[in-house]
Amino acid sequence: MQSIIDEIAEQMLLTEDKGKVATYIPQLARVDSNQFAITVALPSGEIFSAGCANTLFSIQSVSKVFTLTLALGKLGDYVWTRVGREPSGDPFNSIVQLEHEHGRPRNPFINAGAIAIADTIMQGHEPKETLAEIIQFIRFLSDDDSITIDEKVARSEQKTGARNTSLAYFMASFGHFENPVEKVLGTYFHHCSIAMNTVQLAKAGLFLANNGINPNSGTAIVSPKRAKRINALMLTCGHYDGSGEFAFRVGLPGKSGVGGGILAIAPGKASIAVWSPGLDPIGNSKLGTLALEILAAKTGWSVFGE
Ligand code: GLU
Repeated sequence: MQSIIDEIAEQMLLTEDKGKVATYIPQLARVDSNQFAITVALPSGEIFSAGCANTLFSIQSVSKVFTLTLALGKLGDYVWTRVGREPSGDPFNSIVQLEHEHGRPRNPFINAGAIAIADTIMQGHEPKETLAEIIQFIRFLSDDDSITIDEKVARSEQKTGARNTSLAYFMASFGHFENPVEKVLGTYFHHCSIAMNTVQLAKAGLFLANNGINPNSGTAIVSPKRAKRINALMLTCGHYDGSGEFAFRVGLPGKSGVGGGILAIAPGKASIAVWSPGLDPIGNSKLGTLALEILAAKTGWSVFGE
């Protein structure tokens, strides 16, 4: 495994077209696109890394896997009254579908869906309390208490968040919101701004590769059935309108973020985190996707067979 990922990391550094960093969040535009990291975490506890696996990056939408898990834990199937389970086929911040579907976003991973999930988790609490709960959950999963929110990124998102603010107020106009819209947005912007490295992220995803059990602590985070379902949503909706392409090329459940991170799950085998900040036109990490495509081909880990 170490030699496979060393080779991949080397190949990525030599690849010329590294994609373009996200610029709509000014703080993310400052990140050097010349970086690549990969970590493969196995349920046995073994961890393999290559590239700058200790460098922190903004996990952005990868955080939505953890907020969905928390929401399902608190509210079970009620979650599905607030968001659907279908791929959107639209960009991550699209507003058009929302009107047709009466303010119930297609899935929990597009921006509108994740904002709705943030609303369900809050249950009348302040953003600070909810964020403490989200961070605590991720720290527990990663077995790493150093994980925090990058306040600069959060402020940057909040300042330029006109589209997300519009999505939230539009949803609220259908009467679905349980908490004040600005507080929900504050929670959403901050959980997207959690900073992690690929080691921490791969460890945090291990429960999804291990039937719901976090091997670090032996704790059941979710039931095997729920782990399977979260993986199904990651496969079908985790890369926005690039989800079909990711399934075609990589064949693993995965969730991307505009910070350039991707968490991919090989059920029963491994949790993989990759990071490279340059994105393709849809907003998914260009080299991250390529690296996972090569890894899946070399290991035969695609869920669709070798
Ligand atoms: N915080 C970002 C936004 O709301 C998340 C987008 C992403 O990572 O795909 O636009």
